[in-house]
Amino acid sequence: MPSDESVFSAAVGILYVTCPLIFLYLQFCTVPYGRHARPGWGPPLPPAAAWFLIESPTIWLTLLLLPHGRHLSHPLALAIISPFLLHYLNRTVVYPIRLLRSGTKAGFPLSVAAVGFCFNLLNAYAQTRSVTHYAHYPPAGDVGWWIWARVAAGLAVFLWGMAVNVSSDLALLRLKNTAGGGYKVPEGGWFELVACPNYMGEAAEWLGWAVAASTPAALAFFLYTCANLFPRASSHRRWYLQNFGHRYPPSRKSIIPFVF
Ligand code: NDP
Repeated sequence: MPSDESVFSAAVGILYVTCPLIFLYLQFCTVPYGRHARPGWGPPLPPAAAWFLIESPTIWLTLLLLPHGRHLSHPLALAIISPFLLHYLNRTVVYPIRLLRSGTKAGFPLSVAAVGFCFNLLNAYAQTRSVTHYAHYPPAGDVGWWIWARVAAGLAVFLWGMAVNVSSDLALLRLKNTAGGGYKVPEGGWFELVACPNYMGEAAEWLGWAVAASTPAALAFFLYTCANLFPRASSHRRWYLQNFGHRYPPSRKSIIPFVF
């Protein structure tokens, strides 16, 4: 039976190995859900149920693991794991409810949902054990101001990213409703600069969180998020240009304003 420490190291190692592999794979294949859905990827699930299923380990596994962390009551561990749970409470519960109310009809392939579920099992385990057990913190009373400053700066970026992510998702779901379940060119705010402000916000969230947590696991999660979302944002932008022609401003970038 492998020790918990070797399972943890393997989980973080898999996250690092997955980043370049997924990035390379996504150069040739766009994950087939939403506007990129195509047949041949297994039976379709209702999108709200799929998102709930995919993201649920980040809540139940995290809560199951929390009591086993030796840093459970350490203020740094609490300050870092709370935003992780906040993000996933939105993604697992609030976002699927909003999806239900929107006009999103396209099914979500079971095979893609299964891969997402497995990733979240792995990632929730790696991040929770990292923050609440394997990270090295000074004793609770001796945490220097510079550590709190780093955590506060990281969490400020995280909260900004989450605000952009949630408000952009909401704007897109409203657009879906007004488009009768179809697609429209999004207007206003960050949509004037990038095709996918929701992805930009998500990447900023995990960048800020990685700064706050300062663990190899958190850095791996940020890199994985970029490896996953940058190619998809690029596919979305291409899709807009192909489907809306001159009605989609070509100056809009994919995910980073003026850059990419
Ligand atoms: P999308 O932006 O592709 O879609 C979000 C929702 O808005 C979908 O219901 C979509 O409909 C609808 N929509 C999008 N654009 C339009 C438009 N122009 N007109 C009308 N409706 C539109 O995001 P994803 O579904 O890929 O992701 C959802 C959330 O999950 C995001 O916040 C993302 O950041 C996060 N995520 C995080 C990942 C990570 O690695 N951390 C990986 C993947 C997602 P439809 O589904 O029919 O296209």
